[in-house]
Amino acid sequence: MDEMINVFQPSLGERELAAVAEVFAGNWIGRGRRTAEFEASFARHLGVGRDHVTSLNSCTEAAFLAVQLAGFGPGDEVVLPTVSFVGAANAIAACGARPVFCDVDPHTLNPTVADIEAVLTSRTKGVLILHYGGYPGDVARISALCARRRILLIEDAAIGVASRVDGRACGTFGDMGVWSFDHGKIVVTVDGGMLYVRDPELAARAPKLAFLGLEQRSGYDQAMRSRTRWWDFEVSSFSRRSVTNDVLAAVGSVQLSRLPEFIGRRRVIAGRYDRGLSGVDGLRCPPPLPPGHESSYYMYWIQVSPGIRDELARDLYERGIYTTFRYPLLHRVAAYGSAAALPNAEYAAARTLLLPMHQGLTDADADRVVTTVRECLGERLRAPAGWREAEV
Ligand SMILES: *Cc1c(COP(=O)(O)O)cnc(C)c1O
Repeated sequence: MDEMINVFQPSLGERELAAVAEVFAGNWIGRGRRTAEFEASFARHLGVGRDHVTSLNSCTEAAFLAVQLAGFGPGDEVVLPTVSFVGAANAIAACGARPVFCDVDPHTLNPTVADIEAVLTSRTKGVLILHYGGYPGDVARISALCARRRILLIEDAAIGVASRVDGRACGTFGDMGVWSFDHGKIVVTVDGGMLYVRDPELAARAPKLAFLGLEQRSGYDQAMRSRTRWWDFEVSSFSRRSVTNDVLAAVGSVQLSRLPEFIGRRRVIAGRYDRGLSGVDGLRCPPPLPPGHESSYYMYWIQVSPGIRDELARDLYERGIYTTFRYPLLHRVAAYGSAAALPNAEYAAARTLLLPMHQGLTDADADRVVTTVRECLGERLRAPAGWREAEV
């Protein structure tokens, strides 16, 4: 068998290793100068003020902090697409609010304004959307809707690190945005996340929440001036330790500098898939990006007949091509207690398959994926027992 082609894969190399070695040599590995530099570069990348971002140990933790800063609690409803990352729903449920799942567009898997409007009630305090596959989706109109209705908007931009609409970074349309740098994302710090908060007062609270809710932590000089001891502190909230460190931040700064190169390569792969797969019988490619929209190309998905999707995934695996589906529908997860009927999401979840997408793919890899998908799909469609549904 040919070597397995991964569905997601990081690109970490000599430059990242050298950056780590430099931090080790400096002997300050905790949260320090490198973390501050990484935050400043990320804020520049987003086009926001440096004091509005806080780097954290994961995106899930960023979502939990965002929900905490938003002040959601029992009796509140927070709307999110059923095609969401489980950690986002957990953050909402953990604070006592109710996650209310909405439907999505059947082909982009992003919620439309109408999908969100359909589930708003007088108890809705927040909306939490993601950018499926890195496609911005209807974020501009959704943020206008939320502003009009005075509902807080949180963007899970975990996979939208380079996604933009008319030049504006996804994650900065709403009141807060969160990003992920875990091992499977585009910019990778091994594990890590970032939180953006638009409101300056809330933004100033974020780093304190991220470090045990400690107040009045002062250095030696300041302590001497105020005649206090530098190890004294106050606690303003009972929070966790969610900070990251200079080792991971050094990796992040190198990765961020490589982002344009990563995205450029991903765009080429997506174009190769588009050309090789569009028009193939029984298969649908992702819809084209609307004008002004830039994707991070985190995922490339195809849609096939629901009768053969799982078999196709197995056939591809047998031939060395790893595929998956993200994100399994949350309104189907018993723990959230949802009774919603969301037909477009069901449609998408039964048909969608994510093909390998990462900047480490060669042209030959992409062509092998295209050829193998076409072969396997053709065999499945011709199989007498198989479903036939050319219209997907
Ligand atoms: C990966 C992912 C997360 C979580 O990121 P972590 O840093 O692993 O906590 C959140 N949302 C989406 C959409 C993701 O894909």
